[in-house]
Amino acid sequence: MNEIVSVEVILKSRPVGLPTLDNFDFRKVKITDIKDGEILVKNLFMSVDPYMRGRMNDIKSYVEPFHVGEPLSGDAVGIVVKSKSDNVKEGNYVLTNLGFREYFVADSNDFDKINLEVIKPIDGISLSAYLGVLGMPGLTAYAGLLRIGALKEGEKVFVSAAAGAVGATVCQIAKIKNCYVVGTAGSSDKIEWLLNEAKIDGAFNYKDVKNYNKILKEMFANGIDVYYENVGGKLLEAALNNMNRYGRIVLCGMISLYNNKTLEPGPSNLFKAIENRLRLEGFIVFDHRDLKPQFYKDMIGWIVDGKIKWRETVYDGILKAPQAFLDLFSGKNLGKMIVKL
Ligand code: NDP
Repeated sequence: MNEIVSVEVILKSRPVGLPTLDNFDFRKVKITDIKDGEILVKNLFMSVDPYMRGRMNDIKSYVEPFHVGEPLSGDAVGIVVKSKSDNVKEGNYVLTNLGFREYFVADSNDFDKINLEVIKPIDGISLSAYLGVLGMPGLTAYAGLLRIGALKEGEKVFVSAAAGAVGATVCQIAKIKNCYVVGTAGSSDKIEWLLNEAKIDGAFNYKDVKNYNKILKEMFANGIDVYYENVGGKLLEAALNNMNRYGRIVLCGMISLYNNKTLEPGPSNLFKAIENRLRLEGFIVFDHRDLKPQFYKDMIGWIVDGKIKWRETVYDGILKAPQAFLDLFSGKNLGKMIVKL
């Protein structure tokens, strides 16, 4: 086998507050051969995701922290370029959690450790969709809205970070279920996309609005049944004030808090949950993998029927991966942030 030189992204130091490019480094590794049972994969697309910010801290959480001096990891789609495995063949496309490197060698029996899944290309759809609408963010939207949010036909749904990977999918699933949907986003092009492409009923730029409570009252004259929470802070407080009795708040993410150096006081109006018999429930997508077969069936059907649309913001090359990750926190992505390798 010809020697391959692969570039990996390393965690150089742990950030305090907002990460910077200085927290990352690169290293080259040489791959000369593979052993029996192993596969050599060339990554084609990799994902950068907000939850990785938590993994940069040295704290116990639902996923292991990244280690200083070691490569980061995250979802990636690759092609098997060499195989000594009975399960995975050369030319197979695979989804794994071994992103942040151009190539890798793995034991193909370690399905669980590296989340290995052989994926099928779908006509007319880029393989990168397996990192977005057909991947972890898509399943997050699906499980969060339908299982945790227990969405019913025709309900009134509010979604924050609505033009992102998770949010845009939530909005469109809710529209498929004939719901009234309003979302927030941080730029006029995102608002335009939500209204004209995702075809939701209302959207506002949270950066231009001073009084969230007032705008929600105006946009939800009949109250909110489900709030799909991606942002946290003042938006959660305003949503709590406008929830209908027996409403559900799906606690998916709180990106506005991820870079805080100190913890902020929580919503001052949590008693509204008692008054209105609300259910606030956090969830982690990894606990809902049992939904995957149904998720693929529904999502592929919706895509084929033109009911789900999506955008990707694509950065080119592994050297751009740290910048792509940082740009999630200033909202530079419309739809899924992807790094093409
Ligand atoms: P997105 O594609 O939505 O990208 C993040 C977006 O968040 C940005 O584009 C930006 O959009 C918005 N944002 C960034 N900083 C702030 C801020 N300070 N205040 C308000 N909005 C901000 O990411 P994902 O779709 O991957 O993730 C969305 C949320 O879902 C995140 O909170 C994430 O942690 C969570 N998540 C949870 C999972 C779970 O299992 N519970 C799994 C996957 C994701 P804008 O222009 O609108 O500001």
